Amino acid sequence: MSGIDDVRRELVGLHEELRRNKLVAWTSGNVSARVQDSDLVVIKPSGLSYDELTAQSMVVVDLDGNVVQGDFAPSSDTATHLYVYRALERVGGIAHTHSPYATAWAAHGEPIPCVLTAMADEFGGEIPVGPFARIGGEEIGMGIVATLAEHRSPAVLMRSHGVFTIGASARDAVKAAVMCEDVARTVLLARSLGELHPLDVDDIEALYDRYQNVYGQRPAGREVR
Ligand SMILES: [Zn+2]
Repeated sequence: MSGIDDVRRELVGLHEELRRNKLVAWTSGNVSARVQDSDLVVIKPSGLSYDELTAQSMVVVDLDGNVVQGDFAPSSDTATHLYVYRALERVGGIAHTHSPYATAWAAHGEPIPCVLTAMADEFGGEIPVGPFARIGGEEIGMGIVATLAEHRSPAVLMRSHGVFTIGASARDAVKAAVMCEDVARTVLLARSLGELHPLDVDDIEALYDRYQNVYGQRPAGREVR
């Protein structure tokens, strides 16, 4: 994705992915993307229904939160997204949802243990829990950055709130949100059958390395770590 208009269009499709994968209800959830080689971020407008989202309705802000283009106010989570972009240069996209299974873990304040090869592949270990923080200021962003600094996971469960995911692109961040919900559901089902057995560290390392560097058809591992 290069120009702002391309990013606006891409974000419409990615918000549709949130809905298609049943990660969001009503107007909750949002995706943003950094415009390449700029200090600009494109993000969902606040309070519009998913049916109303168009490329034109997306809001362009600078890293300080000033609206550069757009007819609507930006998402109420904008300060959180911008804090993460300012702190982590490698992040090109961020997604946020209250997807039910992952948010159940967040409500319980418990990390999702790494008990599946798919988790080792995508998350390189457990999906961690970040601190509780009130919505609006930079506290959530600080909690996300501090928690992800200790983990390879591109997803963090913010306590009593929901899921934030990062990626080299907005598409990667949305993929991480989809995978997070998928494993949150499976691991919850597994626990209903009895005790969970986390994978050995050596196995997690081997799986993560293979998936990030060898698997698939992309030219090289481009995932955010
Ligand atoms: Zn939220």
